[in-house]
Amino acid sequence: MFCPKCGSLMHPRDGKWVCDNCGYEMPIEEKQEIVEEAKKKETIVIKKDIETLPYDESVICPKCGHQGAYWMLQQTRSADEPETRFYICPKCGYRWREY
Ligand SMILES: [Zn+2]
Ligand SMILES: [Zn+2]
Repeated sequence: MFCPKCGSLMHPRDGKWVCDNCGYEMPIEEKQEIVEEAKKKETIVIKKDIETLPYDESVICPKCGHQGAYWMLQQTRSADEPETRFYICPKCGYRWREY
């Protein structure tokens, strides 16, 4: 971390980055909070996506045994291979692929 004011190397002190050269201070970003925020967003997106997915009542969740799951097609990396069907359990959220 370098000081945005004078370009000197900054040192962490009392939860802040402190420039020994000019005394500039800035807060150390809470990385944990950023991760939590990203997780929250991801969960919201998944939930929203699930509501629009088709539902298959004939499959059983291998994790919790719930009958019925949402499914979606996901293109594999190789264009030659067929699309893979993924299932999502509405009860426990477990995801698995069809073999
Ligand atoms: Zn400085
Ligand atoms: Zn399940």
